[in-house]
Amino acid sequence: IKHFLIILMILFWIIALILSMFLSYRSAKPMIKLWGKQQKFVENASHELRTPLAIIQLKLEQLLKHPNKQIIDEAESIVDSLNEVNRLNHLTKDLLFLARADNGQVEITKSCVEITPYLLTIIKPYQEYAELNGQHMIFNEQCKNIFVTFDKEKVHQLIVILLDNAMKYSEKGATITITSRIQEQQWCLEVADTGEGISDVDKKRLFDRFYRVDNARTRSKGGYGLGLSIAKWIINRHGATINILDNQPKGTIMQIFFPLTTENE
Ligand code: ATP
Ligand code: MG
Repeated sequence: IKHFLIILMILFWIIALILSMFLSYRSAKPMIKLWGKQQKFVENASHELRTPLAIIQLKLEQLLKHPNKQIIDEAESIVDSLNEVNRLNHLTKDLLFLARADNGQVEITKSCVEITPYLLTIIKPYQEYAELNGQHMIFNEQCKNIFVTFDKEKVHQLIVILLDNAMKYSEKGATITITSRIQEQQWCLEVADTGEGISDVDKKRLFDRFYRVDNARTRSKGGYGLGLSIAKWIINRHGATINILDNQPKGTIMQIFFPLTTENE
């Protein structure tokens, strides 16, 4: 019986060991995953920072090679460097936003907003910009005298992200239509373009950080693939939802539904 007890003890000891190993692995799994994600984020960010910095360095070195030339002779190098500086500015701003959002440091300050005049002021400068690019921007508003509660600045940022994409990924002559309407007790905001469209496979990954459909092509347009991840964060924080639909005969429709009920955080 003594032997039997010892074997039983060892057996239980082994079971307890395996169980504790399994449980600690399970509880640490989300942490490991998060850590991996964070690491990937930092890796991607550093990678994206490297290219513009390398270009700026190269251009400045080129300038130094001909110290007696006039600025006008070197305008191209200067313009290229400035473009890269702009891109870096844009990138660091987005990275900071996401990092602060991850840390819970971005606050949402909701207020009651009359949506039509609000949308008009946001859209107007982009309308002019689109005309300059040979594109048309139409505001189709069906929400007279309707008020919705949301964070004015963040939703502004969200709309700009969508308008920027609609213009960037559509060629000359394209039409971008912004529709604001009430549907099923929700405020529906749509940005539709007649651009290149998005395949079903890409639709699933669009909100991933640094995801771009065609790296080489979108890079030349100045994108880092962070716009829609920021948009998604803003949408989630407002309890809103987004659908990506195909426009007919071609193009994309970004459709957002905001809840109408006034809830204060
Ligand atoms: P940025 O960080 O400057 O916004 P980005 O525009 O590349 O860069 P996102 O806005 O997140 O990044 O968009 C991710 C990708 O989704 C884009 O690179 C583009 O390939 C694709 N995309 C987004 N909107 C559209 C659209 N309206 N039509 C076609 N493709 C789109
Ligand atoms: Mg974008």
